[in-house]
Amino acid sequence: MSDALKAKMQTATLVSKELFAGGRLGVFKLRPTKGERWWYQAGQYTTLGLDTAEHGFIARAYSIAGSPLDPDIEFFIALVENGKLTPTLFAQELGATFHFLKPVGKFTLRAAAKRTIVMAATGTGLAPFVGHVRSLWKLHQAGVPSDYRIILFHGAAYADEFGYRAELEGYAAERAKGFDFTYVCSASRPDPARGWDARTGTGRINEVVRHVFAQPIPAGRQVALPAGVDRAALAALVDPARTAFMTCGNPGMIEDLKEPAKAIGVDAYLMEEFWKA
Ligand SMILES: Cc1cc2nc3c(=O)[nH]c(=O)nc-3n(C[C@H](O)[C@H](O)[C@H](O)COP(=O)(O)OP(=O)(O)OC[C@H]3O[C@@H](n4cnc5c(N)ncnc54)[C@H](O)[C@@H]3O)c2cc1C
Repeated sequence: MSDALKAKMQTATLVSKELFAGGRLGVFKLRPTKGERWWYQAGQYTTLGLDTAEHGFIARAYSIAGSPLDPDIEFFIALVENGKLTPTLFAQELGATFHFLKPVGKFTLRAAAKRTIVMAATGTGLAPFVGHVRSLWKLHQAGVPSDYRIILFHGAAYADEFGYRAELEGYAAERAKGFDFTYVCSASRPDPARGWDARTGTGRINEVVRHVFAQPIPAGRQVALPAGVDRAALAALVDPARTAFMTCGNPGMIEDLKEPAKAIGVDAYLMEEFWKA
């Protein structure tokens, strides 16, 4: 089975690898060996495969954390302790050969079919949203008119796990100049020793989203928006009739946000689960 899969795959070279959060998270960039472009829609995923010492050839799905307008193909990946693939993947050095399948998937703005998108991600579930927001930014920079409004909520345990934070805060700072993008990140463990400060929210991201839309939160949970972010102003950005929720990452977060989305009148709900509950 794994040999048959490998035979169907193309190859790409690892051209960039940046690890952070103590080596448990990484941004990896690949360049197809034959120099061809990978054509895909922002938000799609591909399958990456490697030979591992313990388990033979292992392939796993990964959302593309970049724009189709980027020259290389980018991934935001978490190291899963004792995982079958990620320990080998994280050990790869520049120049290593990866195997990949043609990108697929329907986690796209086209599928969302709305102009206001509330994006909610846990951990590396941010990946497809980086693709969407960076693509919209590039089009904005090129002067292409767009009526998208994006509100991105990113949750992690610790504040040093917010990959792409500087890039996303940079886009959010352009809001006054017509790029309609809002970024809120929140740490469920607000530890200053791990980079938390008042610019970061507090609490699980699904509960932060519930808080914004005045939906119930389990008793005793601590939830706060980043300093200077006004709850009512954030909620007012969302007209339910023209809004879709897109949720990605932990299946528990994805399940938990279905009800509040429905309660506020949003019926377009897209999901990309990274594993099964
Ligand atoms: C459509 C799709 C897109 C995906 N995109 C990404 C991505 O962009 N980045 C990414 O890091 N992962 C992504 N994943 C998860 C990825 O496919 C692997 O499951 C993950 O890398 C673990 O592989 P492994 O062989 O090391 O672990 P395995 O031995 O397969 O262990 C799987 C277990 O690892 C845990 N796990 C899986 N993914 C994560 C994660 N992201 N963070 C924390 N724990 C996890 C779960 O408990 C799961 O049951 C995606 C999955 C799907 C289905």
